[in-house]
Amino acid sequence: MNDQAADIGGAGLTPQELAALREDLEEQRRFRLDQLREFARSRAGSRHGRHGGRRTAGLAEVDAKLRASARMVLADVEAALERMDRGRYGVCHLCARPIPLHHLEVVPQARYCARCQQVGEAGR
Ligand SMILES: [Zn+2]
Repeated sequence: MNDQAADIGGAGLTPQELAALREDLEEQRRFRLDQLREFARSRAGSRHGRHGGRRTAGLAEVDAKLRASARMVLADVEAALERMDRGRYGVCHLCARPIPLHHLEVVPQARYCARCQQVGEAGR
């Protein structure tokens, strides 16, 4: 391995592109953290939140799903930020090829290139 020679980004992204993507990721992280905090608060039973008392059993179920997906996205986003810190961001985990910028712009926390993602989804 020649870690030292590898340039930051691994995927051939410019520092500007990386910075923009990092900003996206950090914003996404803030948003999800807020969301989870909000869930935690409404769970604690304080009713002076937004429209107190509108919560029903059905909504609680939707909440649980939203909370689960928020947590999943948050984990993905944090993993992406960590990869960025290690200079390994933007490379497909499966085929090790760079993930195209236009794909990262849509899904900055992407782990796989579009092709591998498709293969993974079709394989189920
Ligand atoms: Zn791939």
